[in-house]
Amino acid sequence: MNDRQDPPASPSAEECVDYLEQIVFFIDNELAEADCAAVRKHLDTCNPCLEKYDLQRTMKAVVARSCTEVAPSQLRDKVMFRLQQVRVEITTTEA
Ligand SMILES: [Zn+2]
Repeated sequence: MNDRQDPPASPSAEECVDYLEQIVFFIDNELAEADCAAVRKHLDTCNPCLEKYDLQRTMKAVVARSCTEVAPSQLRDKVMFRLQQVRVEITTTEA
């Protein structure tokens, strides 16, 4: 009897670090179409990266807004903090 289950196939942390770098360019629309597709596909299957992507986008919006308005520094700090948390989570999931 062996009920041991293999862990579900998920992207490795190393792969995620790679993608996370691309996500920055992805948000800025600076990726080639083929790379965009790859990033999108990864975001589809990788929740931590999707969360990071959302945060990056939120932060970009906050930063863009702070150019025209008084910077909501508290909100920015909060987003930055969350961003760092996600980064730590991703880099430490590597067992
Ligand atoms: Zn990922």
